[in-house]
Amino acid sequence: MKLVERPGKSKDKKDAHAKDESSDVSGVVGRANHEVIKKFPVDPNLKDYERAYASFDWDEAKKELAWFAGGKINAAFNAVDRHLHDGRRNKVALYAISADNRVEKWTFQEIYEASNRMGNALKELGVKKGDRVFVFLPRVPELYIATIAIAKIGAIAGPLFSAFGPDALRDRLQDSEAKIIITNPQLKTKLDGIRNELPHLQYVIVVNGDKSQLKDREFTYQELVEHASEKLHCEPMDPEDPLYLLYTSGTTGKPKGVVHVHNDILGHHMTTKWVLDLKDDDIYWCTADPGWVTGTVYGIFGPWSNGTSVVTYEGRFDADSWYEVIDKMKVTVWYTAPTALRMLMKAGDEVVYRHSLASLRYILSVGEPLNPEVVRWGMKVFGLPIHDNWWQTETGMQLIANLPCMPVKPGSMGRPLPGVYAAVVDDAGEELGAGQLGRLVVKPGWPAMLRTIWRNKERFDEYFRIPGWYFSGDNAWRDEDGYFWFVGRADDVINTAGHRVGPFEVESALVEHEAVAEAGVIGKPDKERGEIIKAFIVLANGYKASDELLEDIREHTKRQLAAHAYPREIEVKDNLPKTRSGKIMRRLLKAWELGLPTGDTSSLEDD
Ligand code: ATP
Ligand code: MG
Repeated sequence: MKLVERPGKSKDKKDAHAKDESSDVSGVVGRANHEVIKKFPVDPNLKDYERAYASFDWDEAKKELAWFAGGKINAAFNAVDRHLHDGRRNKVALYAISADNRVEKWTFQEIYEASNRMGNALKELGVKKGDRVFVFLPRVPELYIATIAIAKIGAIAGPLFSAFGPDALRDRLQDSEAKIIITNPQLKTKLDGIRNELPHLQYVIVVNGDKSQLKDREFTYQELVEHASEKLHCEPMDPEDPLYLLYTSGTTGKPKGVVHVHNDILGHHMTTKWVLDLKDDDIYWCTADPGWVTGTVYGIFGPWSNGTSVVTYEGRFDADSWYEVIDKMKVTVWYTAPTALRMLMKAGDEVVYRHSLASLRYILSVGEPLNPEVVRWGMKVFGLPIHDNWWQTETGMQLIANLPCMPVKPGSMGRPLPGVYAAVVDDAGEELGAGQLGRLVVKPGWPAMLRTIWRNKERFDEYFRIPGWYFSGDNAWRDEDGYFWFVGRADDVINTAGHRVGPFEVESALVEHEAVAEAGVIGKPDKERGEIIKAFIVLANGYKASDELLEDIREHTKRQLAAHAYPREIEVKDNLPKTRSGKIMRRLLKAWELGLPTGDTSSLEDD
């Protein structure tokens, strides 16, 4: 079977990525990638996209979940408790790999009991429905157990990256008026310094804490759960009651506190089934931390609602260790992010081939545009296409995906899921045809749509400023086959000499050059052209910056893109500024370049 088809183009890679002159678009937006990868996972859960798209109904899908009397529901009951009665009681829910590589196994029954104990302990401390309980832990079992416990008693879970510094912590705890924080002794030191600025914070719970080191209103996790009952009445919630409050990544500005509700579990459940394609015997690893929405929705609720065995890894990123996790746990489905994949690519092929990786059957990516070059590399080293999908903290679930039943188009985010209507519109909300660049919008009404921005109704209303649409803030275009192509954040699109250029296209062309590991592209004001394109690049291992190399990179991008779209300026950096969720912060590159204020940097990765 021929796996990679590039219809209408020669085998020459350069030709295959040349600008498609026929499409009706300006700038480089029409640089349609004709590459199609047809390699499907065996027997996907969603077999016939067209049929499902035409007939799917969210109300019908509610049958897949467990409901309480009177239309009440609890997302945590669906994620954990119901598996005590569906034959999965003794199935491993969690394989937790610690930073020092010990593997702890937790069955659904054990997670059920542990979360009941924690839920009771929180109730003892006076936590009520709607109270915010924040979790500030590395990826240890207590993080997952506590999140479930919080949801079970109807409180609102607030996941935080353990790498957050005191400023990021203060912003989020102050804004949410969190009542309780669950942390560990190392991370608590970051909290201690800002404690007097958090008047609403009543108690601190410390996992593996030393009682003698704790002050008033501080408890060890262990002392609280020790005597707590393992029987808990899981709170029947109104589907519209809040489940979690999570701040966006902060890529484009100050993070927004997005409020999601128990009804989201319907979206989590169905998208996990279709997009992640999880089966009962899968071992699934989502590399995202729950501090990012991917780690909460597809690291906890979605897979557990489907009764899947989840792998978590406390350790830091490192190519060798990551491949080892896959081999050691026999991971079959792997959900990760472009930044991680680019780093793995940068680490080289040899490290891949030192591992078997034979268990892998399906790979997915989310969070940033996935450069086609990375998909090609995935085909080469893993023998599998990487399935990109698109969603946001605000959308609460995947909305657009390269589903397992459809060919993967490298560089495209895929097609809207059944039950989701996405479109590209102009500023007046008029739908644009295939090949036209515009605003990526979605028809409101999918189950996991954000319900509000925490105490900021005005910001919430901005998402609906185009009547009849949810406005994503991303720019995109759709091709004739209904696949959506990401161009850039609405604010990132560059206007150069009358052409609109998306940073993603330029970045993707740059990383196609063997010396470029990563690239971030911005528009720099220019008297003559309005803006010129400036690229910041990180070189691949073994390359040194020189005028010749930069010229070669410039020439390469010129060949790949339309003449106006190549970066006139290229600057080599050791690394690019990124959010904790691994997204390139182009606004910082721009602010630094232009000497402007940097704005909110609380989510900036600094190590
Ligand atoms: P903030 O809203 O605070 O600026 P953020 O938008 O990065 O941060 P998230 O909700 O984590 O916060 O990310 C959603 C955004 O990530 C999308 O709007 C889109 O720009 C980008 N994104 C997600 N998936 C993809 C994808 N598959 N391809 C391209 N971009 C993606
Ligand atoms: Mg956003």
